[in-house]
Amino acid sequence: GATIGILGGGQLGRMLSVAASRLGFKTHVFDPGTNPPAGDVAHRVTTAPYEDETALRAFAETVDMITYEFENIPTSALDILEKIRPIRPSRRALAVSQDRLIEKAFLSEKGLQTASFAAVDDAEDLAEAIAEIGTPAILKTRRFGYDGKGQSRLQSADDAAQALADMAGAPAILEGFIDFSREISVIGTRSLSGEVACFDPGENVHRDGILHTTTVPATLTSSQRMDAVLLTAKILNALDYVGTMGVELFVTPGGLIVNEIAPRVHNSGHWTQNGCAVDQFEQHIRAVAGWPLGDGKRHSDVVMENLIGDDMNKVPEIAREPGAALHLYGKADVKPGRKMGHVNRIKS
Ligand code: ATP
Ligand code: MG
Ligand code: MG
Repeated sequence: GATIGILGGGQLGRMLSVAASRLGFKTHVFDPGTNPPAGDVAHRVTTAPYEDETALRAFAETVDMITYEFENIPTSALDILEKIRPIRPSRRALAVSQDRLIEKAFLSEKGLQTASFAAVDDAEDLAEAIAEIGTPAILKTRRFGYDGKGQSRLQSADDAAQALADMAGAPAILEGFIDFSREISVIGTRSLSGEVACFDPGENVHRDGILHTTTVPATLTSSQRMDAVLLTAKILNALDYVGTMGVELFVTPGGLIVNEIAPRVHNSGHWTQNGCAVDQFEQHIRAVAGWPLGDGKRHSDVVMENLIGDDMNKVPEIAREPGAALHLYGKADVKPGRKMGHVNRIKS
């Protein structure tokens, strides 16, 4: 079997390694940390910084293709790796999703609805952006934000100075505030030969900026459900994408609005592990390995709940619950806000 290189050894890299292993592949994980969660299950681990050219080369030479579990890989590392092995999904997908401004410009160019947006580098830009977009609005760093970090909400123009200070000089984007009824996401996969398969949309609830639960089926009309899947396929095709992607959407009376895309397996797709014959991790591995996609039809209703920080105290109780499938990441130290695991509860 082939060996799949995975950049990033967090829980997503760990679950990708498990899925690869089930199909007879080996994985080699590259991570800058000392004890990455994926290290327990990968066949091989390199812990070195992304600046270590020798380590990157050695890693690439042991694998057949390279994928990743997070989008903030330094360009310099990709420059080195792509000369040695194919990187899937491609760099274009990374470039588009690494920067919220490029992402929104790409989505609107494809005819998809996004929040109104404007680039903000300084106080003058922000004043102009507020005049154009209005308030309420959200100022977000263009890069490196996750779990709601790097964001500041503006109720009125009076909040401008504070919001700008919150960005600490990082290039930012002002987004108009969307008055949505629900948040959903679609996890879709595109194979090397261009087949597309999307999982049933999930409904997401956040707590303190972090995903709390994903419920399938989502409360949607059949046309909304169809729309969500079709626009995801459109994004995958437009990027000539290979692998699994998460597309976060706002449901509004005026239609679906794309919040952001993630060029990787996605937390809101973890329900697929117990709701489908083939889950998001296996679909991703199949795609990057050049296999046909598997059957991702939902066979059960599921509620996925993230286990964050002290939620780990609930594990002994959850372990006794009927219909509950636990997935723990083997992280040694519990910290507030840290994703420690999740539980998929089968509802029917
Ligand atoms: P993730 O952990 O999903 O990568 P993130 O840090 O990239 O999150 P976003 O998804 O952009 O952040 O925003 C986090 C949450 O804030 C969204 O799920 C949504 O609830 C809310 N939000 C973000 N942008 C808007 C908006 N323009 N209008 C209304 N709510 C928003
Ligand atoms: Mg994000
Ligand atoms: Mg998000």
